Amino acid sequence: MKWEENVRRVTPYTPGEQPQKEGIIKLNTNENPYAPAPGVARALAGLDAESFRLYPAFPEKTDLAKALSAQYHIGTDQIFIGVGSDDVLSLAFMTFFQSGRPVFFPDVTYSFYDVWADVHRIPYETKALDENFQICPGDYMQPNGGVVFPNPNAPTGVLMPLDRVEEIVRNNREAVVIVDEAYIDFGGTSALPLIEKYDNLLVVQTFSKSRCMAGMRIGYAMGQPRLIRYLNDVKYSVNSYTLNTAALALGAEAVRDEAYFQECCSRIIKTRERAEEELAKRGFVFPKSCANFIFASHKSVPARKIFEALKENDIYVRWWDKERINNYLRITIGTDEQMEALYRALDGICG
Ligand SMILES: *Cc1c(COP(=O)(O)O)cnc(C)c1O
Repeated sequence: MKWEENVRRVTPYTPGEQPQKEGIIKLNTNENPYAPAPGVARALAGLDAESFRLYPAFPEKTDLAKALSAQYHIGTDQIFIGVGSDDVLSLAFMTFFQSGRPVFFPDVTYSFYDVWADVHRIPYETKALDENFQICPGDYMQPNGGVVFPNPNAPTGVLMPLDRVEEIVRNNREAVVIVDEAYIDFGGTSALPLIEKYDNLLVVQTFSKSRCMAGMRIGYAMGQPRLIRYLNDVKYSVNSYTLNTAALALGAEAVRDEAYFQECCSRIIKTRERAEEELAKRGFVFPKSCANFIFASHKSVPARKIFEALKENDIYVRWWDKERINNYLRITIGTDEQMEALYRALDGICG
């Protein structure tokens, strides 16, 4: 077809499977196994369908922005809210990575980064993690068009200490550095306090993992007001009303219940520590995880074989047919009961 010459062609991101089958154990997309804070269900019951007649409020004027502002002790003008952090990150790529110089990110990382770079026509270079899956800050100090990395990194779960994050931000004052903190609440130290010091730092977080609300699609970025204004200018040039009325109301409830949030995160951390012991006992090796998943390789059984055998047992984990990581499984931390079922299945497969 002639018109196909003028199509924007992209190789899309491949999300983890979302099997619509009852009774499966889903440890493949890093969702939280626990329900959202109880206030979320109460607020949902109290929602009036009449309120959907109107367009939603602008996120920065809502209770959600106020709740985040109170939680993180920053102004509402330092917060940008989007439809999941995928929306926030894609907009941030579009907004900040326009120099024409390559954007830097790790070779083993969130596999959406190269997709956004491609779709937004942004050149990029990947920087190899070292043999322990650590990011080497020195690699990020050559001239670049921006830097982005998750901390903890995905899919490895490896946390970079804050002083090294700062080293990268401090040595890139002419470009925007995006720290994707999707998993920071599971044991890391956030780079958020550094936004006061560095006008080129954008910290991105999400409700999908630690706040148990992947289906509501809420993510946010924090930075100095100037960065947030630029993000808003692009967002309001693409789609003004992104977050829906329900998400804005329910998200605020999730943030307000700090005790529930802390409890959920510590349960995941406890189950993860137990999982490290159980997996090690069964012949797996893995880097120390600070996320809600473990990136594990078996000493003798190939990852692909375990992945497929688990699936036959209705247990879904993630495996990538990609150089460097094709002998690893990324296993999301579920409830204790789900993890017990995983260990039993592994005994049958690897034992
Ligand atoms: C899950 C994840 C996100 C995006 O999650 P949203 O559901 O879009 O908020 C972003 N970055 C990393 C590294 C993730 O793992």
